[in-house]
Amino acid sequence: MEKYAEVIVDIPSQAVDRPFHYLVPPALEPNLQPGHRVIVPFGARKLVGYVMGIVDKSPVDEVKPILKILDEEPLLTREMVDLALWLAQHTYSRLVDVLRCLLPPGIHIKSEKYVEIAPEYGTRCINELKERAPKQEAVLRYLKEAGGEALWDDILDAAECGAAVINALAEKGYVTIKYRWTSPAVKKKRVQVCRLNVSTGDAAAWVEANRRKAPKQAEVISCLMVMEKPCTASNLAAKAGTTLGTVRALEEKGLIKRYWQEVYRDPYGEGAAASKPLTPNPAQRNALEEIKEALDRESPDVFLLRGVTGSGKTEVYLQAIGRVLELGKQAIVLVPEISLTPQTVRRFKARFGDRVAVLHSALSAGERFDEWRRIRSGDADIVVGARSAVFAPFTRLGLIVIDEEHEQSYKQEEMPRYHAKDVALWRASRHRAVVVLGSATPAVESTSLAETGAYRQLLLPERIETRPLPPVEIVDMRVELKRGNRTILSGRLREAIGQRLQKREQMIILLNRRGYATCVLCRECGHVLQCKNCRVTLTYHEPDKSVRCHYCGWQMPLPRLCPECRSQLLRRFGVGTQRVEEVLVREFPGARILRMDMDTTRRKGSHRAILTTFEQGKADILLGTQMIAKGLDFPSVTLVGVITADTALNIPDFRAGERTFQLLTQVAGRAGRGDKGGEVIIQTYTPEHYSIQAAASHHYTAFYREELAFRREMGYPPYKFLARILISGPVEREVIDTAQRAAEALQLQIDALGPRTEDVGIFGPSPAPLSLVRNRYRWHIIVKGEEGAVRRCLDGFTANQDTYPCSVSVDAAPCALL
Ligand code: ADP
Ligand code: ZN
Ligand code: ZN
Repeated sequence: MEKYAEVIVDIPSQAVDRPFHYLVPPALEPNLQPGHRVIVPFGARKLVGYVMGIVDKSPVDEVKPILKILDEEPLLTREMVDLALWLAQHTYSRLVDVLRCLLPPGIHIKSEKYVEIAPEYGTRCINELKERAPKQEAVLRYLKEAGGEALWDDILDAAECGAAVINALAEKGYVTIKYRWTSPAVKKKRVQVCRLNVSTGDAAAWVEANRRKAPKQAEVISCLMVMEKPCTASNLAAKAGTTLGTVRALEEKGLIKRYWQEVYRDPYGEGAAASKPLTPNPAQRNALEEIKEALDRESPDVFLLRGVTGSGKTEVYLQAIGRVLELGKQAIVLVPEISLTPQTVRRFKARFGDRVAVLHSALSAGERFDEWRRIRSGDADIVVGARSAVFAPFTRLGLIVIDEEHEQSYKQEEMPRYHAKDVALWRASRHRAVVVLGSATPAVESTSLAETGAYRQLLLPERIETRPLPPVEIVDMRVELKRGNRTILSGRLREAIGQRLQKREQMIILLNRRGYATCVLCRECGHVLQCKNCRVTLTYHEPDKSVRCHYCGWQMPLPRLCPECRSQLLRRFGVGTQRVEEVLVREFPGARILRMDMDTTRRKGSHRAILTTFEQGKADILLGTQMIAKGLDFPSVTLVGVITADTALNIPDFRAGERTFQLLTQVAGRAGRGDKGGEVIIQTYTPEHYSIQAAASHHYTAFYREELAFRREMGYPPYKFLARILISGPVEREVIDTAQRAAEALQLQIDALGPRTEDVGIFGPSPAPLSLVRNRYRWHIIVKGEEGAVRRCLDGFTANQDTYPCSVSVDAAPCALL
């Protein structure tokens, strides 16, 4: 019977975002599986496509055949195919975009077939075969000359033989046939490694015979015999306590051979010192018992692990992963990009060594690809990575940890607009894996789910060794102003910094705004300099005296005259990190200051260099944006200062209060992690706000209750499900018209709900708070209500979508409404 493949072609266009049917030629049929990449004819072109399914019938009569299978192994696992189908629907995204998201980015990869000679069958079997099976001998000789391995097709060419010859060798165990993922775009990194050139029996005999005469050489051979992995000549010499000369001598005698071996690039090359599991304290033990019990039962439970900063959450993750490995399974650990510091990575590598793969955006294409291959081939069992690591193609997934689960960066703000948590939950239920969501300040929605029993809550209420959380002092900047202090630093903070400098202790100063001044205003006419592409004020940057847009990157030199009225009275207002640095340098001459923000960390490795300098005690003050608020563990920091707590509070979004609480709690948690204790000073113009009050008293529940009341009153999540439709385009009139038409189309869907119409409300269309970005006007429609009903409307809306002149995109459960 004929088979048909459902294929998604790899072009990002709404018009082709559905499966096309192709005939599976009989020759390809035995191999073809969902997940394979194929070449298909498409109009006059030939395109790459992804096989999503194989069926017995085609809905159309005219079907063209698949031309070629691109990879030996399917690129996508069966799970990934299903995940893609679900995620496209769940996030109202195109399948092509979802598929691209699941694959290692920016690289053309392919699976190739190669043959490796079994090490123990060396020269001896070649001689044996010479007479009986000359073709097999030719293959082995070719393989030996090629350094032990060669591509399948190359062997067929070079040894002038058929596949049967290699298969026969494989059956005898002389060679192994393998598959691996490669990319022509990525150079393989290779090193020369040593291995025995004689059988282990012969080697043992030689060691016996030469132990007296040549003890060093005998030691080298003994080392090599027990070695699990091949190693370089210099490592081998070091292991045997001798020099390279000894290894070379053995090479000349023909006992050792060097050959080239491909190695994976290790982005954290230093090789961390090993660490052992710590004895858990009672709260950790309790959490671990519950998690391990769920792991053992293969119960796909979701745990919300709420533990104050420094309470030992990471240790809980590490020991839970330990159990996962014992069970022969694999684990994914997600951390926010921003806290994917060498410090974090080192802790995982120290415990689990090279079973850990690391994925984040600062890796080079080659590094990223190498890590992906280690995951796909099962060489790695643990992935530590940012958002997209949730797609790590493990096949024996046992645990997914999401650290700092409240972080906004787990939501992708472009197509496909997925949340890593949703993907984690889907994969966990598929694998019957456990999910652990950890945070000191869980998202309001998560705690609410824990209260309803959907998640299981675990608490780590105290810091390790019952170190106290640092006392927090709130300084009212309005009072400072009344007292005549018009500077950035309050009397209290200035005094505290001075004391720390005297005692040579370290401190962290936070200001969540980069640049020098956050706006430039004309005192004569009130004009504020704005980006010409965005309705956003321009930020003044001191080093090159430019004004820049933080949304689109546009910049120009600071004008001398007001562009509106030609007045000379252009004044800079608002404070950024550059300005704070200037003030600190002036007030505390001699203090060693490191500034860390987007401007100082653009170069690869600079992020890490700054943190290392600070860690080594070569600086007194680490000044920065939210980049420095999270995940860092510097026991010598005794003071944390917040220049102004109000920056996050004034963002026009319903999560502003939550963000402020989270940011302040996180940064306060950087203080007092060592023996010397610590304190926190928060400067603010709104000291009475509950987010600031609760952060100052380290009182999550107090914050949660207040925030929940606000959400209930306003009808925000978790009380109502919220989605937004964003309409954007270069022509304002068209954007407004489209927004109106979209709202009408949506209203039709709501009306069609019948008795459930009441469950959904729409708000707008109205201009988005960021109403112009990168020369695109932005309007939005907010849809609120019961989740099932809202989703039904959105399903109908997207399925029947008109062709609009502007971009219309749906974001279900947006993180922010800017
Ligand atoms: P969190 O992730 O909650 O911020 P960490 O896991 O970073 O906390 O722990 C804070 C510090 O306490 C780390 O230096 C860690 O090594 C140490 N620590 C964690 N658990 C224990 C334990 N059971 N005994 C001793 N020290 C611990
Ligand atoms: Zn003016
Ligand atoms: Zn701009």
